[in-house]
Amino acid sequence: MLAPLLLAAALAPAQYTVSMPDPPSHFFHVEVRYGDVSAPFRFAFPAFTPGGWKIDEIAGNVLGLSAADGAGHALAATKIDKETWSIAKPGDGTVVVRYRVYADEKGTPYVARLNGDVAHANLATILGYASDRQTAPARLTISPAPGWKVACSLAEADDAPGVFTAPNFDQLADGIFLAGAWSEQTFTSDGTRFRMVFWRPPEFKDRKVADDVRGIVREAAAVFGETPFDRYLFVFLMEPDGARGGIEHLYGTSIGQPLDAFTDRDVYVRFLGVTAHEFVHAWNVKRMRPFGLGPFDYTREALTHNLYVAEGFTSYYGPLVAVRSGTTKREEFFKNLADNIVTDRDNVGIREKALQDQSWDWWLDSAIPYLSFRTNYTRGAFVALVLDLEIRAATEGKRSLDDVMRALYQKTGLRATGYTDAELREALESAGAPGMDAKLDAMVGAPGPLDVPAALARAGLEVVPDPDTPAVPFTGWRSATSGKDFPNVDWVEPDSPAARAGLQSRDLLVALNDRRLSGENLSKEIRRLTSGTAVMVTFFRDGMLKRAELLPGATVPPKLIVRPNKDASAAEKAFLDAWLAPRAAGAKP
Ligand SMILES: [Zn+2]
Repeated sequence: MLAPLLLAAALAPAQYTVSMPDPPSHFFHVEVRYGDVSAPFRFAFPAFTPGGWKIDEIAGNVLGLSAADGAGHALAATKIDKETWSIAKPGDGTVVVRYRVYADEKGTPYVARLNGDVAHANLATILGYASDRQTAPARLTISPAPGWKVACSLAEADDAPGVFTAPNFDQLADGIFLAGAWSEQTFTSDGTRFRMVFWRPPEFKDRKVADDVRGIVREAAAVFGETPFDRYLFVFLMEPDGARGGIEHLYGTSIGQPLDAFTDRDVYVRFLGVTAHEFVHAWNVKRMRPFGLGPFDYTREALTHNLYVAEGFTSYYGPLVAVRSGTTKREEFFKNLADNIVTDRDNVGIREKALQDQSWDWWLDSAIPYLSFRTNYTRGAFVALVLDLEIRAATEGKRSLDDVMRALYQKTGLRATGYTDAELREALESAGAPGMDAKLDAMVGAPGPLDVPAALARAGLEVVPDPDTPAVPFTGWRSATSGKDFPNVDWVEPDSPAARAGLQSRDLLVALNDRRLSGENLSKEIRRLTSGTAVMVTFFRDGMLKRAELLPGATVPPKLIVRPNKDASAAEKAFLDAWLAPRAAGAKP
């Protein structure tokens, strides 16, 4: 449709002002001013945050919404559903909406926070929109608390320094900002200016953070072939009590990390891993995105079969670009693979429900204990790994999954709508190798295990049990109880020894062969069992003591190691080197 676009282009920008008169109250004060209003209109809050993929209804955090015309005369504002207000037509063509929105996030970077020390927001979690003007441009003024400085991922207006602009509400809502006494490191790569802002300012020790992140940035860009933005803002929320997670945006990312992330190498590798993951998203999901993930209808779920591509393929590429850049070591890359193989092996959900269906249902809260949206990350990453190594093998190293990602990005990355299921398969077939579309269907269309070790063998890698952690007989119950309490059965794996013994969730394990169990000794007592030799389990169910016979299954190694096979052929070693070698022009091998 052409007419609404022309109408939108003619509309004056919506003028947003975010201020912080009382930071300890945790309320941002927001004012939005609209011109050219000639009819009653509707003002609403997003039902979800892009990147979060769950209904979070920020309207629940809003207080005191009011509306006025340009002269300050009140206009009736009536709430008509859980997130929308209907506002009366003004006499002078101007509507000013004011409200307060509560923001007190801690430990994660997904929403917003305002307190006596700092302000941070994913703008989708504090800004409302006019329902019929989502395509209209917007201008944003951030008025921080006294003494605070502002970093924002949106473009600064040419005519007004400190005022930020967006061509539509989608891009406004995609923005992030940090206000406070943050510290900053900057670098330039291939013409793009990168800012890394840190709250709280950490001690970097001897870490060359900017050099390491620049290496990651270069290798990520080399996968996709170009960097389609001239600015990018990393916001790092460093918390003394620990923080985790990241959320991706078009021109930046907000990442939570422990304040001491630069002390231990292990913690620093995780810092680099999440940083690489979020940056790969600048292509994969923010630009090259599944059909339906933008432009958004903020009133309802945006459903797609391809969140395992958005998150899983990104989880594959994050560690890969880090190791290609040399910022992480191969042993660190292998350790991450080994840990994830254990996670995938023990993931009951992927044996029960196909990956593309788990993507579609990401938005649903399920009571089934073994279904988790995290499967889209862990299994999705292995789907990418298998495809990558299969394409390399089928084309004798001439092509890889990188070529598929680049082709799909070039075709769909900068257009208004995302790629379809068919376009994803077409790219695998034409830019990857024949049969890869069917290979993908087999991996994501039905539940079941995935033979990752077989794929890694192509690169001369072997997956072996960690000799320092002895294998344990399989029982099939899961319990998170710690300390001296009887272990509570959180849930029982289907078709497991515990299931065959008739155990169920909420059973309280008392003894194995009359030896008392507790949260702290459960693992040790299981290690004493012998596979195939029956034991008596004593447990409480609903306060009644019961007994059942349990036949422990074969032993399972709790930890695995991925390492180069010492018998690997020269061709396999070359395969490994080609896979993990730097791709960026001028990169040091
Ligand atoms: Zn992600």
